[in-house]
Amino acid sequence: MRIVLLGPPGAGKGTLANLIKGKFAIPHISTGDILREEMKAESALGKKIKGYVESGALVPDEIIIQIIENRLTEKGAPREGYMLDGFPRTTAQATALDAILKKIGQPIESAIYMETTLPMIVSRLTGRRVCRECGAVFHMTNRPSKKGNVCDSCDGELYQRADDNEETIRKRMDVYLTSTTPIIEYYQKQEKLLKVDGNKESEDLLQELSDEFNENKAAHRD
Ligand code: ADP
Ligand code: ZN
Repeated sequence: MRIVLLGPPGAGKGTLANLIKGKFAIPHISTGDILREEMKAESALGKKIKGYVESGALVPDEIIIQIIENRLTEKGAPREGYMLDGFPRTTAQATALDAILKKIGQPIESAIYMETTLPMIVSRLTGRRVCRECGAVFHMTNRPSKKGNVCDSCDGELYQRADDNEETIRKRMDVYLTSTTPIIEYYQKQEKLLKVDGNKESEDLLQELSDEFNENKAAHRD
């Protein structure tokens, strides 16, 4: 399964990806996580991108495409399957991704689009807390850690992302509407788009998708 996860910030892409990863054992490649790791490590790349990420702007296409190209083509890159979360985010990125995957003969199979309403997005993002160690995502009221202020799975400290404040959320939504929504149509044209209701609980979505994938597998066997 080679899957792209699409949807506005706060649609629950990361949470769903973690559930899919648990069930189907396919890696989750999140460009947001990769960028935050670079910033945390204060690498040259981390320093270059910090201003963009913290203000809610997109990192330039050349930089992010290069990162993904390395991840997908380097030695030991996942071949049978992966979920891309947060990439592609522009038409240029989507086109570049197709070109990279064409070279290695491994096209994207589906793009899961998590359609979500604005009040839901704001509530999810303002209440979101992330584990500093493993990146697990919690929500103060909807999905609290059983252990309070530390991560359920690794006891890491939970923190609020610098870009999860109201002003930056508004900026990220604008960027999403202008730059990212065109790629919904891009995947629709390729007949790869699978639309799901992002307002639903992630566990319910996992169930829906599992049914869908199993049906697909059965159809391919016939
Ligand atoms: P969310 O889905 O909550 O908006 P992400 O963790 O996916 O957040 O991304 C956080 C930030 O990282 C973005 O606002 C942007 O600055 C940067 N970023 C992540 N992925 C990309 C991408 N594909 N292209 C450009 N910038 C990106
Ligand atoms: Zn953790």
